[in-house]
Amino acid sequence: MVKEHQLKVHNSLSGQKETFEPINLDNIGMYVCGPTVYSNVHLGNVRTFMSFDMIYRYLKFLGYKVRYVRNITDAGHLTDDGNVENDRFVKQSKLEKLEPMEIVQKYTVDFHKVLEKFNLLPPTIEPTATGHILEQIALAEKLIDLGFAYEVNGSVYFDVEAYNKKGLDYGELSNRNIDELISNSRDLDGQGEKKNPVDFALWKNASPAHIMRWNSPWGDGFPGWHLECTVMSTKYLGDYFDIHGGGMDLKFPHHECEIAQAKGSNGHEPVKYWLHANMLTMNGQRMSKSTGNYILPMQLVDGENDFFEKAFHPSVVRFCFLQAHYRSVLDISNDAMLASEKGFTRLVEAIKTLEILQPKNTSTVHIADLEQKLYTAMDDDFNTPILIAHLFDAVKMINSIKDNSEDISAEDLTRLKTIMHGFVFDVLGLQTENTNVNSDKLDGVVKMLIEMRNQARVDKNWALSDQIRDQLSALGIQLKDGSEGTSYTF
Ligand SMILES: [Zn+2]
Repeated sequence: MVKEHQLKVHNSLSGQKETFEPINLDNIGMYVCGPTVYSNVHLGNVRTFMSFDMIYRYLKFLGYKVRYVRNITDAGHLTDDGNVENDRFVKQSKLEKLEPMEIVQKYTVDFHKVLEKFNLLPPTIEPTATGHILEQIALAEKLIDLGFAYEVNGSVYFDVEAYNKKGLDYGELSNRNIDELISNSRDLDGQGEKKNPVDFALWKNASPAHIMRWNSPWGDGFPGWHLECTVMSTKYLGDYFDIHGGGMDLKFPHHECEIAQAKGSNGHEPVKYWLHANMLTMNGQRMSKSTGNYILPMQLVDGENDFFEKAFHPSVVRFCFLQAHYRSVLDISNDAMLASEKGFTRLVEAIKTLEILQPKNTSTVHIADLEQKLYTAMDDDFNTPILIAHLFDAVKMINSIKDNSEDISAEDLTRLKTIMHGFVFDVLGLQTENTNVNSDKLDGVVKMLIEMRNQARVDKNWALSDQIRDQLSALGIQLKDGSEGTSYTF
């Protein structure tokens, strides 16, 4: 049963918030572009996947059955020139002296580990590009037959001009004008085999040095990146499905190419609602390995980094990310994380307080109003910051009941618990296990031990200082020495 609601989603295709009306009621199809598994997953990508995890969770919470497909790109992710030296898998395998498929395995495992740490639910299908080579060849052949693609020297390209001549409007998602695109790119050198610089590869001929290769009607080669998403989304969700998600940076050209491939082969739009999640910055700047403004997701949790004074519980990171709307840029910093930790702790304390509240005969609080506000926030294009603001109204309410300045009936208390658990655990995906909440005494004891260890270090009693650190570590309490003193995490 799907709950009565008025969900609106921002559709990138129309640029508007639209009422969400599933193609098949009770059975939603959602496709999200997954990772290219040639290196550790970026924190920014974790944010994107977390945004769609929250969306997936809310749809399920409303009672929808959702088929959630998120692919693994394990081949064919080339830069546009098609040079084998630029194949990320081949490049990384040389660097790490591993087989390309060992690179794939290593970083697929890493990806799953990181997402599990942040409590993301797995998709219901997680297909791989290499598992769908035959379907990709078949789609390229179909596009050639229909006059939307052409073969040159064993490679196949999508013919953007032919597509547009049929009035199919390449560039509709990112509002790009095809004529401008063509004239802007005409001057670029190295047009190579393509008829037109905006044409994109469906299949690339493999040079003898290329290890990851498959046989095709055009000789040995490998698929272009855009093709796999069209093949896997339509294979599992049908050629018209509800939601396609991904990072904003994928709008062009990746998603534009997906639309062209699908419309070229089926004659109609493949997706009803295109949803795009925004990026993550750190200390006001783009995260990038080359500038050094960069942190791996796990480093935020284990505290092994130079940007944050302490380690943070994965749920604190999650809470911080969800305090921004998924379509807004989110900036993280030491201060922002500390503030999130405070907020999260207040929320968790209130949820624990719920268990000790004593019901009265009547209520002075309005649970139905609160519940309505929580749903309204999420129904408005998954507005998690507003949802969280209302959850803090609930925190105030819970504390007032605890202080006896408000009363709650037994029936309302049960309802309040259900709502709070539903939105905090099921929708936001926060976890309260292993947080040091409600453990003021333990906190005091650990701080006392830290002070004793500090004194031991002043006294140069290294044996005692190491003993304190090691024994705490054996209990799962990690100390971290920083410029601001010693902090600890569970
Ligand atoms: Zn994709």
